[in-house]
Amino acid sequence: MPEEKFSTAALLSILDSIAPFAMAEPWDNVGLLVGDPGQQVNGVLIALDPTEALIHEALSQNLNTILTHHPLIFHPLKTIRSDTPMGRILKTALAHNISLIACHTNLDCISAGVSNALAERLDLRDTRPLAGPEYTEHAPTSGFGKIGTLSAPLASEQFLRRVLTVLDAQGLQLAGSLPETIHTVALCGGSGSELAETARNMGAQAYITGEVKHSVARWAEEAGFCVIDAGHYPTEKFIVPILAETLKKTCAAKGFTPTITTTAQQDNPMQWVVSDHNTPKFCQPIEPLRKHN
Ligand SMILES: [Zn+2]
Repeated sequence: MPEEKFSTAALLSILDSIAPFAMAEPWDNVGLLVGDPGQQVNGVLIALDPTEALIHEALSQNLNTILTHHPLIFHPLKTIRSDTPMGRILKTALAHNISLIACHTNLDCISAGVSNALAERLDLRDTRPLAGPEYTEHAPTSGFGKIGTLSAPLASEQFLRRVLTVLDAQGLQLAGSLPETIHTVALCGGSGSELAETARNMGAQAYITGEVKHSVARWAEEAGFCVIDAGHYPTEKFIVPILAETLKKTCAAKGFTPTITTTAQQDNPMQWVVSDHNTPKFCQPIEPLRKHN
């Protein structure tokens, strides 16, 4: 029997069962942002960011559906001009019938979401969310961020070594003071400054996130708490292969076997430039995510 047509609408329904779109924050923009719900899905390319390079990567592999964590269209558009990156992406996507789908804060919020992916890599145990509408103290469920314990306390240097190794990071920024040993760790993949105080109140000894605000860094210093800024991309990247695997399994359970792949070229847009006696030293770009999986 030929496989039933796998439409974009069917894919959206499967994604909704993995990370319900209704769980996205009210200010967010998730779901099908560009494309025709009735179009047949030839294959899905997954990444964090909808970029021009990603569109070309999809085209080169004959994949007509792009699934990203961050939405391409966030604020209402007043123009679509092909002399802007946004305009070029939209023009190329529409010209080649490429659908763009975003799973953003809905993918942050689910139990097995973005922060969980990072928590698993850091080997945090007994994790629970830091904050979220469905969070209850006794039932680990959905919510933003995670707090958990390392299998054994680590000396602060070992802990930082683990963070650097797991993230394959060129560096970290740290505010406040690191305890001598660390056992309880909180984190939030992406931009999670606002959960720093919650992390401390819930008993974390260190909090890892990206894009830490100056005021939060200063608060950490004053409060004697440790906040680590490991960057937005590095703290979110692990969700990409996990989402691909989850999507493959969920599609297969429904009798669909589309090509589902992760980006081989997308990387952290931020590059470390360190000073070597005032001479700028460009750190090697980190290899694309796929090579670490
Ligand atoms: Zn993000």
